Amino acid sequence: MSVETAFTKLGENKRVTRNELIQLLKTRGASQQKLFTLARHKKELLSGKKIFVRLCIEASNICKNTCLFCGITRGNKSLPRYKLNVEEIKKIIDENYDGKTGLIQLSCGESSAYTIGEICAIIMHAKKYCGNITIGIGHRNEEEYKQMFKSGAANYLLKFETSNPKQFRIIRPEAKLSQRLFHIQKLREIGFRIGSGNIVGLPNQVLSDIANDLLLMKKLDLYQVESSVFCPTKGSAYENEKTGDIDTTLNCIALSRLVTDAPLILASSSLKGRFKEAFSAGANYISVHGAPDRVFKYYSIYGGETRRKFDAKLIAGLNA
Ligand code: SF4
Repeated sequence: MSVETAFTKLGENKRVTRNELIQLLKTRGASQQKLFTLARHKKELLSGKKIFVRLCIEASNICKNTCLFCGITRGNKSLPRYKLNVEEIKKIIDENYDGKTGLIQLSCGESSAYTIGEICAIIMHAKKYCGNITIGIGHRNEEEYKQMFKSGAANYLLKFETSNPKQFRIIRPEAKLSQRLFHIQKLREIGFRIGSGNIVGLPNQVLSDIANDLLLMKKLDLYQVESSVFCPTKGSAYENEKTGDIDTTLNCIALSRLVTDAPLILASSSLKGRFKEAFSAGANYISVHGAPDRVFKYYSIYGGETRRKFDAKLIAGLNA
């Protein structure tokens, strides 16, 4: 199998095999640029050159789970915990959302820190500004999903992180991949568009796992795709592990554009200084962070990055 054959298939929108995906994940240099060009071309055909911006509100870092890659794991006993109240969250939306940048996302650890009534009140407030609201608060029950949808949330983000069931069980001890996929299916039946994705560079992950992640992204018919670089985060079980490879992650982003029809593909904050390269590889949205500085430093799932604030100049620059 040659990479050229895989490029031809991608250019003709034909299905590529797992082995071809593995080769493409490894590609560098001129070949990598060719991959990016194909992905960028598809993005521009679908949605032009516009970069969408998601105002992500990191509402609370309280979590009942102990995921090994995550800095806000319940196991991180030294991390100060916070919960923004509903009025604070509404104020963040009032002050940071300009009505035309794209999406609002409510994110927090998986916990009962917020009642479903509070979540729905936030959704209804955000809905005054934005029709494209994403919820990323982990697993809830079916009745609660229905209430969130009825209140106006359009998208639900549940990253599968890895499509390898054994690895999933290790990195997310409280869950199983099959359960994650069951929740995704329930959310879809209710009417949500689904956001999901993977982490590139997890300990013991191999390229065939990432190729399988891409095939799962395709199967799930996603609205939002998020591939992030594994970043060892202080206080997590994986704090001493090696950071994931950024070029492999960029290739994964480009391939997610080419193998799925997802309208939105994230240029992840975990790419750090290289996040703009993701736009040339087919990504078309970024996150700005809504949580105030005083608490954002405790929302340590991003590998210690600095907070990217909403800034009209940043938005204009991205779309220049
Ligand atoms: S990944 Fe999500 S569920 Fe797991 S510990 Fe972190 S916040 Fe909690």
